[in-house]
Amino acid sequence: MQPLAQAEALLQQWLLGLGPVEAAGWAVLLNLAQVLACVVGGWALQRPWPDRRIAPAPPALTVAEVQTTALTVLGSAAITWLGWWAFCMGWIVVVPTSGPLRAVGDAVGLLLTMDAALYAGHRMAHWGPLFGRVHALHHRYSLVRPLTLFVVHPAEVLGFGGLWLGVLALWQPCWSGMIAYLMLNGIWGTLGHFGMELLPGGPALLTGGRHHADHHRYPHGNFGFYTNLWDRLLGSRLPRPER
Ligand SMILES: [Zn+2]
Ligand SMILES: [Zn+2]
Repeated sequence: MQPLAQAEALLQQWLLGLGPVEAAGWAVLLNLAQVLACVVGGWALQRPWPDRRIAPAPPALTVAEVQTTALTVLGSAAITWLGWWAFCMGWIVVVPTSGPLRAVGDAVGLLLTMDAALYAGHRMAHWGPLFGRVHALHHRYSLVRPLTLFVVHPAEVLGFGGLWLGVLALWQPCWSGMIAYLMLNGIWGTLGHFGMELLPGGPALLTGGRHHADHHRYPHGNFGFYTNLWDRLLGSRLPRPER
């Protein structure tokens, strides 16, 4: 763990040494890089398996989708900046990785905690008045592409970000576990929005590409993000439509 501990110490030192404007610049760059990674990664995964498509291809990209994505990058950057500031103030604590077990435990624990919280938040977002004002924007796109992951109302960006910062402040994860969770979140989001199922039949308890793609086409079910556990327990799992 020696090189990892050194890398984590360097990262921590670098973060604490940043000024507010510098941190804002890095926050925008980081979130822009995430959008690019998800879009390019999703596109690269689509190419070798055109027969794995489980929903019709989306219509041509619109200016509105690009504009909303730009807003999402700015909103996410604001949350990243707030996380950096809370870290500098000692309100968010991220500890050195003590071993692989701690890293895996943190990543899985964060995933399951956020899964439960996001399921609750997503169901609330489908409540009449809230749906029309906020979440309907994401559901304008019934046929998804990787970029659709970022085409969400700014209130949802801030809601997700606020939830994440709250969980972080309470959890105090290690660096590796936290970074692993953030990467898995990006991968899951991309898989849920690229209109394909890489594992035919789908994974048992995890949401594959079909789960969220079906939610876009039939928005009355499949509210889960990383697992279908809460959809199964609370009876909101969609039957798998024949195609
Ligand atoms: Zn979606
Ligand atoms: Zn929804």
